[in-house]
Amino acid sequence: EGLIVSFGEMLIDFVPTVSGVSLAEAPGFLKAPGGAPANVAIAVSRLGGKSAFVGKLGDDEFGHMLAGILKENNVRADGINFDKGARTALAFVTLRADGEREFMFYRNPSADMLLTPEDLNLELIRSAKVFHYGSISLIVEPCRSAHLKAMEVAKDAGCLLSYDPNLRLPLWPSPEEARKQILSIWDKADLIKVSDVELEFLTGSDKIDDASALSLWHPNLKLLLVTLGENGSRYYTKNFKGSVDAFHVNAVDTTGAGDSFVGALLGKIVDDQSILEDEAKLREVLKFANACGAITTTKKGAIPALPSEADVLSFIKNA
Ligand code: ATP
Repeated sequence: EGLIVSFGEMLIDFVPTVSGVSLAEAPGFLKAPGGAPANVAIAVSRLGGKSAFVGKLGDDEFGHMLAGILKENNVRADGINFDKGARTALAFVTLRADGEREFMFYRNPSADMLLTPEDLNLELIRSAKVFHYGSISLIVEPCRSAHLKAMEVAKDAGCLLSYDPNLRLPLWPSPEEARKQILSIWDKADLIKVSDVELEFLTGSDKIDDASALSLWHPNLKLLLVTLGENGSRYYTKNFKGSVDAFHVNAVDTTGAGDSFVGALLGKIVDDQSILEDEAKLREVLKFANACGAITTTKKGAIPALPSEADVLSFIKNA
């Protein structure tokens, strides 16, 4: 069974107990572990796969709590560093009535931003079959250099590189800078997943169609995915393209749906790369991944809402 190493930030999402109100009006918040790369690592392990998280946490109660959550979920924690001087990042989430959300971050700087190239557990990264990352770790130094080094080491070791840009515009100095930096590492990835919103942002087009998706294609890419929330997902490979419908659910908080989807997909691909060349197999995997995403929207928070394999199989059976 191959190891999936997920690189980047882990933080605490404070999710309001009531939806459809502003942060000022929120009567209280639920403390939910999150951070897209950490969500992916836990999504993989909940589904029975092997994963590790690489990143930096504050040497504070929240940081140790998060490390504990990784361990409880059987995610390898030997790629985690603790920073003595900086706090674990926090994000306050606004839940809109339709289940979509906005984030307000506390990072001034937070520990994840202070990961250095020297902090990296290179042996762990080299032992991965799949190396997954986002773009938040590209925003500032020294984490940016750590991210680039980790990618290079993973690539040299023959890992499959998986990229989910996970756009969080408030964290970037400007939208132009976000677009430029996100695209600067584009052609290194073997697998890329974007959401409909990210597709529009990166292409500058308001059309979410094959032409706009394919404008993001690069020659070494093996699989491009576009997730469309309640409209499911689209896939593009060198030889085929198509879409797989979503499951119908009552979404209360979409946070982590995309990460759940990615974790499910990577968990299958890590042990069977023929999925990338076999459309029937890929469609089956995307159905499973869509189910994981759908289940994740039915509970508040990201990590608390990630399903086990048994949850997914019974959900699909009953759908
Ligand atoms: P995130 O909220 O983690 O940033 P994302 O925007 O990257 O997620 P989505 O498109 O929201 O990704 O969701 C990923 C997958 O989860 C979708 O392709 C879909 O299969 C499933 N999903 C998401 N939202 C819903 C929903 N409201 N109903 C059913 N399925 C959903």
